[in-house]
Amino acid sequence: MPGTEITTDAKQLLAKLVGFDTTSAKSNLDLIGFVQDYLKGHGVTSTLVPSEDGKKACLFATIGDGDGGIGLSGHSDCVPVTGQTWTSDPFTLSERDGKLYGRGTCDMKGFIACVLVSVPLFKAAKLNEPIHILMSYDEEVGCAGVRPMLARIGADLPRPRVVIVGEPTSMQVIDGHKRIDAYRTTVTGKEAHSSLPAIGVNAISIAAKLVDEIDRMAAEMAEKEDDPRFEPPYSTVSVGMIEGGTAPNIVPKNCEFRWQIRSLPGTPVDRAPDALAAFAAQELLPAMRKVSPEAAIETESQTSVPAFAAAPQSAAVALAMALTGANRTSGVSYATEAGLFEQAGYPAVVCGPGDIAQAHAADEFVSVAQLEACLTFLADLADRLSA
Ligand SMILES: [Zn+2]
Repeated sequence: MPGTEITTDAKQLLAKLVGFDTTSAKSNLDLIGFVQDYLKGHGVTSTLVPSEDGKKACLFATIGDGDGGIGLSGHSDCVPVTGQTWTSDPFTLSERDGKLYGRGTCDMKGFIACVLVSVPLFKAAKLNEPIHILMSYDEEVGCAGVRPMLARIGADLPRPRVVIVGEPTSMQVIDGHKRIDAYRTTVTGKEAHSSLPAIGVNAISIAAKLVDEIDRMAAEMAEKEDDPRFEPPYSTVSVGMIEGGTAPNIVPKNCEFRWQIRSLPGTPVDRAPDALAAFAAQELLPAMRKVSPEAAIETESQTSVPAFAAAPQSAAVALAMALTGANRTSGVSYATEAGLFEQAGYPAVVCGPGDIAQAHAADEFVSVAQLEACLTFLADLADRLSA
């Protein structure tokens, strides 16, 4: 168990971090500035990797000397509170019954607070390899922000030997997650007076058939795939938004919808848009083009986050298992930056405080017990690296 003092300090730091509204659409520079000052106060310099528009930045800091080292990675952004009903102000940390409520407490400012409060401990330990702190932005919008930082790691930023991504896993060791691909499909039909639908091409009706085909694909995946490491144990595909038409008495020319597939690691990347395009070409486009040669169905990729599958005998997984005492690993259905780290050649593992069930939800919280478990994990890491 960590001392009560460090737990209190971690709560105070978490309160500070929650106070910065770092919803992905907003700047994270105030939070990053605070972290940079905090680190400077402990004699740790950090490098910022700004976004193209300069409104956001990643932070990279190193404690200790030498090559390799352990990267502790977290995203600074959080999801919006729009439309959610909160018991207390989401940007003011509130403790009730051993739970710390606030936007981002679980996903994933709790982890960042634990890492920051452990900095004096890391400094005091005679580390035989460095500890790196990596903070990104825009994780919640397709893991976009970590990518420019990744491009500089190995160039002017040091290469960690392994990366621990502290997303909420209830401190379980996660060595795999699904891939996310998000698409927009646009249907172009032909306008007509609604009394003469046969001379038009109804884009909404076509979109409805495509949505139905996506649901059929979803059912097929549920039936054919079975990987018990994931919940659900198959790839999922679903439509999230649809928009089209101008008036009830006009056959609509345009309709677009947005959809997502969350694929098991190892499944082919473009199979869903390819299958939808084949269905469109066979079942829909010939009849549409008889009425209007300009009729079209187009699908474009919007975001893509790679799956994560740790390599066999991964040093990152072995380290997290040793530190948590876990004798098994699991997979999860949500995506993280771990796939991008692993893909770039840095063995990764996902392990952090809080339960994913509370992430993104109203009254998001992390329990004090989870923060304590994370503090113990980090103290053990420092011990291990100085042994
Ligand atoms: Zn997260």
